[in-house]
Amino acid sequence: MKKERIELVKGDITTIDADAIVNAANNSLLGGGGVDGAIHNAAGPDLLVECRTLEGCETGKSKITGGYSLKAKYIIHTVGPVWYGGHRDENSLLASCYRTSLDLAKEYNIKTIAFPGISTGAYRFPKNLAAQIAVNETKKFLAENKYPEKVIFVAFSGEDYQSYRKILDQ
Ligand code: ADP
Repeated sequence: MKKERIELVKGDITTIDADAIVNAANNSLLGGGGVDGAIHNAAGPDLLVECRTLEGCETGKSKITGGYSLKAKYIIHTVGPVWYGGHRDENSLLASCYRTSLDLAKEYNIKTIAFPGISTGAYRFPKNLAAQIAVNETKKFLAENKYPEKVIFVAFSGEDYQSYRKILDQ
């Protein structure tokens, strides 16, 4: 796998120029706080209209919508697990979020896809562990698939950036 298929940037995912951005959504898919709220605000009210037709989403699974007012053509909504200490299948559910999002990217011939740190805000997943799972799952997928061509991890803080940087440099 070529290393340049993974990129790390620090910033706001709503401003990223990618074919798809991933939303850390909740089971209702009807919007919320954190990155979910920021994405709905930036995409505009038509996003909610489409989300209402999706009838929610299970934890660990992903669904796709248009990007509306975003630069991104698509939004992939994935529902991360709430962290309860690590004994409720949190790791494999988080891995599944990345895998099912990447599966959709492949299905829609998406060249570039940007991920925030799924579950690492209100859902309290430990950030280092989450970044490790994100990178592992993505590397595995890219080694086996041509699409997406590039995955961008978007770190919202300097601390998040350093955490990803360390793992990517290993
Ligand atoms: P969850 O409920 O899955 O934990 P949150 O939205 O609370 O989702 O947080 C997920 C991650 O997204 C956190 O690391 C948070 O710092 C980050 N985040 C929040 N807003 C943005 C944004 N606009 N762009 C990128 N990342 C963001």
